[in-house]
Amino acid sequence: MIQIYSEREFELIRQAAQIIPRAFEMIEPAVVPGITTGEINRLIDQFIRDHGAEPSFIGVPGNQGVAPFPAACCISVNEEVVHGLPGKRVLREGDVVGIDVGTRRDGYYGDSARTFAVGVCAPEALKLMEVTRQALQAGISAAVPGHRIGDIGHAVQQVVDAHGYGIVREMVGHGVGAALHEPPEVPNYGRPGVGLLLKPGMCLALEPMINIGKGAIKVQPDGWTVVTADGSLSVHFEHQIQITENEPQILTEI
Ligand code: MG
Ligand code: MG
Repeated sequence: MIQIYSEREFELIRQAAQIIPRAFEMIEPAVVPGITTGEINRLIDQFIRDHGAEPSFIGVPGNQGVAPFPAACCISVNEEVVHGLPGKRVLREGDVVGIDVGTRRDGYYGDSARTFAVGVCAPEALKLMEVTRQALQAGISAAVPGHRIGDIGHAVQQVVDAHGYGIVREMVGHGVGAALHEPPEVPNYGRPGVGLLLKPGMCLALEPMINIGKGAIKVQPDGWTVVTADGSLSVHFEHQIQITENEPQILTEI
């Protein structure tokens, strides 16, 4: 069942979603060599609570035999793709660090991710970040009524393929609004004109996960952290959007 949200509901979704870009603005100056991922998590967790919301990732069930997710953010460094566990890891000059944040406020959910450069990064890393941002933007531009889910994936894929990077195909974007993860799935690849028809009132999280090498992934023994199978660098950007009669609205941008 694909949710169609009313304007009133979008007001509530937007209030949950808007906390996340503000949390990123708050944390950006702190994402420097020497900080731990655990400290970044602590600061964002507090920021979310200070803004009348709850961190929605805490308690998300793991795969069989894996404890629920323990933190407010997924923090994924370098070859880590997504779902990294914050902890004692100290960030170093040249790292790229993906921070994925979920909020819940008044029963509605926000979800957004951004990758930050720690100090001075290699040009290849900065280019991967820039291309992934462009790919996300292309996907957002394709999210208009009359298009289909495959048009979004195709738009993302065209940008990524032009640079020879690897698309993580096993993980996808999703509906989000009254729950953190709702149908439909939103792959970062696809064919134009294929899949679910997009309609005003849909709320989607688009989230390309792009590797400098191949797109294959594996899960670390902690049961959460997803890494590139070839050890290459990975970058993740995510926006939550509202499909309207006209241009899509980005809910996780200030
Ligand atoms: Mg997310
Ligand atoms: Mg998401």
